[in-house]
Amino acid sequence: MRPLILVVEDEPAIADTIQYALETEGFQARCLSSGGGVLQQLAEEAVDLVVLDIGLPDVNGMELCKEIRKENDVPVIFLTARSDEIDRVVGLEIGADDYMVKPFSPRELTARIRAVLRRAGGRGTGAENTGFSVDESRRRITYCGSPLDLSRTEYRLLQTLVGRPGHVFTRERLMELAWDEPDASMDRTVDAHIKTIRAKLRAVRPEVDPIVTHRGVGYALSEET
Ligand code: CA
Repeated sequence: MRPLILVVEDEPAIADTIQYALETEGFQARCLSSGGGVLQQLAEEAVDLVVLDIGLPDVNGMELCKEIRKENDVPVIFLTARSDEIDRVVGLEIGADDYMVKPFSPRELTARIRAVLRRAGGRGTGAENTGFSVDESRRRITYCGSPLDLSRTEYRLLQTLVGRPGHVFTRERLMELAWDEPDASMDRTVDAHIKTIRAKLRAVRPEVDPIVTHRGVGYALSEET
């Protein structure tokens, strides 16, 4: 069955372009031009993913996402016209799975939708195809068959990234998750630890860098190995 995508976008030209791209690439699309009907739509139909514009006429997309999250864990990809919103969008408290900054190509959006659906389909076993395996009881991470020698902080950082491949974590969020007493002045330390982790991964497999830098935002684990 073709995945059902709910598109919530008030600019008709953009909504039409997205709908056309989705239908051409094997998805079913439902379009809403405001946030008002979204919760009802989700209750009525088994939607596989929501593409959600942040700048809607009746509600802020981020607030709407919080409402959606109260009863539904359907994946959400945000659309935003403002790059300064990205920090909040990737923050875990909103629960977005990805975002696109306008203008974007419809093909890129459908590629992201596929990636998020793939991830959602394999929830709980996200690290399976990345070459990593985490042994939480022994606090040990193995990469391509080699156990890594990690400090406590490095272990927690890498465990966080490996637990959700493709998800972009902000530096602030990584700090909250990996440090017992996070402190904003330690921002650079996230970069320093990532650098050390990368060196340790390179020692195992020199030809790839599985950690992706999102400039000015944070880091993600690559879904490709
Ligand atoms: Ca808009």
